[in-house]
Amino acid sequence: MNKECEITRDLIPLYIDHISSDASKDYVEEHVAHCPECQKILNDMQSHITLPIDYSERLEEAKPITKLKKTINRKIIITATICVLIVLTFVSSIYISTKITYDIPSSDVTFYEANGKLLMKYKGHGALLYSAYASHIENSPTKEWHISFTQTFFERYIQPLYKKDKPQVLDSTKEVKAVYDQDGHILWQNKSLPNNE
Ligand SMILES: [Zn+2]
Repeated sequence: MNKECEITRDLIPLYIDHISSDASKDYVEEHVAHCPECQKILNDMQSHITLPIDYSERLEEAKPITKLKKTINRKIIITATICVLIVLTFVSSIYISTKITYDIPSSDVTFYEANGKLLMKYKGHGALLYSAYASHIENSPTKEWHISFTQTFFERYIQPLYKKDKPQVLDSTKEVKAVYDQDGHILWQNKSLPNNE
């Protein structure tokens, strides 16, 4: 190998990378124009330069990442769906539990007086709902109560889990003449009132 070839081959990498000086560039070009061996080396090295890989190849490389992203997305969707279902189930079961009602016989409720108040206490399990209306007695400060009792699933089974049932106040005793259930049975009578009232 002569000296010119040796210099040219040293310069070829710089030439390919476009970092050679103009003088070196001219030198390489002039030399390979009449030296087929160096021309071949130059051609071979140029063809080995990594050309920008095309987009489809990049996609191929990115596939594992895309797959991972899909897996994570699917996990997020599944988790979110489960959370929504749990909340919906919870809310709807509370709602439904307030729609199931049980009629409570008035014989299961005791009435008694304490500190001037007329109180009601349920003998059974859980809290009690009642609907009542009062009819005022003419020329008298007293009234008669008509009352019926119900429970929903909520009062019967859920409320006792976190709340202790307490007697409920219906009215102040001196204002009540009597309490009746929806069938007209007397549940409580104010014995301290004169009979003619
Ligand atoms: Zn040469």
